[in-house]
Amino acid sequence: MIENNSKRIVCVRGPEKFSEIKITEPKGYAAGKEGIAAAMKHSFKEMGVIRAMTTLSHMNQKDGFDCPSCAWPDPEKPSRIAEYCENGAKALADEATTSHIGAEFFAKHSVEELSLRTDYELNALGRLTEPLVLKEGSINYSPIPWEEAFTLIADGLHSLKNPNEAIFYTSGRSSNEAAFLYGLFARAFGTNNLPDCSNMCHESSGVALSETLGIGKGSVKLEDLYRAEVIIVAGQNPGTNHPRMLSALEKCKENGGSVISINPLEESGLINFKNPQSLKGLLGSGEQITDLHLAVNINQDIPLIKLILKKLSALDKLAGNIFDHGFIQEYTTGAEDLLKDLDSYSEKELLKLSGVTREKVNAAVKLLAGKQKIIVCWAMGLTQHKNGVETIREYVNLLLLKGAIGKPFSGTCPVRGHSNVQGDRSVGIMHYIDKGFNKRIESHLGFVPPSEAGVDVVGAIRAMHEGKAKIFMALGGNFLMAASDTDFTAEALQRCELTVQVSTKLNRSHLVTGKTALILPTYGRSEKETKGKNRFVTVENSMGRIRRSRGVLKAASEHLKSEPELIASIAARYFDEEHALDWKVLGSDYSRIREMIDKVAKGFENTELRAKGVGYYLPNNVREKDFSKLPGGKARITINKLPEHELEVDEFMLMTIRSHDQFNTTIYGMDDRYRGVYNERRIVFMNPDDMVEHDLEKTEVVNLSSTYDAKTRTAYNFKVLPYKIPKGNLAAYFPETNVLVPYNHFADRSRTPISKSIKVRVLKPQLS
Ligand code: SF4
Repeated sequence: MIENNSKRIVCVRGPEKFSEIKITEPKGYAAGKEGIAAAMKHSFKEMGVIRAMTTLSHMNQKDGFDCPSCAWPDPEKPSRIAEYCENGAKALADEATTSHIGAEFFAKHSVEELSLRTDYELNALGRLTEPLVLKEGSINYSPIPWEEAFTLIADGLHSLKNPNEAIFYTSGRSSNEAAFLYGLFARAFGTNNLPDCSNMCHESSGVALSETLGIGKGSVKLEDLYRAEVIIVAGQNPGTNHPRMLSALEKCKENGGSVISINPLEESGLINFKNPQSLKGLLGSGEQITDLHLAVNINQDIPLIKLILKKLSALDKLAGNIFDHGFIQEYTTGAEDLLKDLDSYSEKELLKLSGVTREKVNAAVKLLAGKQKIIVCWAMGLTQHKNGVETIREYVNLLLLKGAIGKPFSGTCPVRGHSNVQGDRSVGIMHYIDKGFNKRIESHLGFVPPSEAGVDVVGAIRAMHEGKAKIFMALGGNFLMAASDTDFTAEALQRCELTVQVSTKLNRSHLVTGKTALILPTYGRSEKETKGKNRFVTVENSMGRIRRSRGVLKAASEHLKSEPELIASIAARYFDEEHALDWKVLGSDYSRIREMIDKVAKGFENTELRAKGVGYYLPNNVREKDFSKLPGGKARITINKLPEHELEVDEFMLMTIRSHDQFNTTIYGMDDRYRGVYNERRIVFMNPDDMVEHDLEKTEVVNLSSTYDAKTRTAYNFKVLPYKIPKGNLAAYFPETNVLVPYNHFADRSRTPISKSIKVRVLKPQLS
């Protein structure tokens, strides 16, 4: 419990208590009948049968709405039966639930009392239905008319001495229209303080890909996966986090391709996929997905890839055709230096660091040697380390040496987690300066954006903690639970004068607040906006395609406002008509926003029309093998250092993971079906030999502690479970373990938190 500057006492981490755990063997496959049953159970419970079935039939369809969950792309011809997965159905059920909470509920339940509920229990309360204020000194939210809420925000912003005292955070749920308008307002107000959830996930991918290939996005299209010869899935668990990706991997396998998975855990979805839309999946044995699983030690992908490259290079010296020398010569720089550098490492050392057996490494080399159509897919397992940028660059080296870039069925595939996280960045949610973007704002929209860079997530936490930022506004998300160092982040938020959350459902960030707090309830992606003109929105998927999304459901409440509408209202109130833009019109006519996006954001063109149906692709220089923006006009092959992990003898390397009943910080349920864990989240997965060595029994209760810069952080009460994970490695769910991640330890250059490689000790409670 923490007392803040308004004398409220709240539980920052949520209760650290146990439920009734049930454990089974991990599943050897993903989806299947159980997937359908789980999807329907959640949907029917939250929405009722008819509402669920009608709404689901519009999800990811050409004239329907985009799934609010992950950013996996839709195929050219979506299935009319069901173009969604179990997790998409859960996300929809979560948003379209018929449970609602409003003023009456908040009058009965104080923020103190609510903060003692788990994140799962908070989410299960249902949709927020009216704007609410938590006044200074009060412990209960109470209703506030929209106009008063806008005035409160506008007055707060006017009271700041400097625009940089305000922070405008964005989660990846917001549409292009909302994100663009929000970024525009922040800039018109005078700051580039635009941190976003990308800072915490794929920022390392953006930096690595920009440095090597000249664009911070992936290069493949969905259809490329179908005919790739080899797909490497690294640091990613698609079965839980991007389930429809399994259909693409299945197609690749059916067409004769191979899949190599590189991950400390052998996840069910990568073992076998029982496609619920095929007889083989429903009644038969499903499709074996992974041909080769390399159980790499946490964050030791660099030594593993170096070893593979070294072995490929040795073969190339003999045969001369393992690497694509024509491609290397014409399109890349740095190959010679890299190959020379590889000579300085011993195979033995690289093998030991990787933790993979020699036989498996040789099998991977054999699979890759004669192939050119290679795709590397990845997610947080590569990005959230101190050397996250370097790790991705090392995988890019492999692709460049093999000439597997800018050609069909080859390339980079960073798989984005939130449905429009990529689009938000494309339309201007960035804390750094893009001179071209600013220039276009100036010439087309008639005002000059600030030229000083703003803060990212790490910078925002620090600024609030130091009292340099006083207003925090969040367009969606659950900042407290998404960010690292939960206790420190909570202190930072609580030092603000005003915190504002634009939300659909209640979460802990509404309870751990500044002196005054506002909740502004908004529409979900599946809901129909009836007011105003042209009320559809657009989103960008993981592969750079823009499509439109139009909700079909009646809104959860008549008191909701759309994100563009409420942003425009705040701007109109703040500027009081003294600004180059007519904000009120923008809030009501989304076509006007799209016209502006076309003028200001790179690659957008005639979006109003072209986003129809399956939409259109934004330009991508890598697809054209155009590296002219990079020094020397060529793609860069880079030399990357080995990760430095000096563990003390009693330390482990911990990676945070999601459960199968979870999407980012939203907890849909308490089960992790694929890993065989039911009704419990306070789990630490451990190698059985490590358990013996540390005298630990199955389900024994331990505390986890991390020490960085002489400060020890402890996460209490976890049950130890034996699991197939390399020795010395641990896995546990976030956000429960975010308390262990120091906010000021992050990836070099991208500043992505080190959530996938935290040095921890496992302590029996009496020794903690
Ligand atoms: S794969 Fe992702 S986008 Fe597609 S339905 Fe599932 S959760 Fe939604």
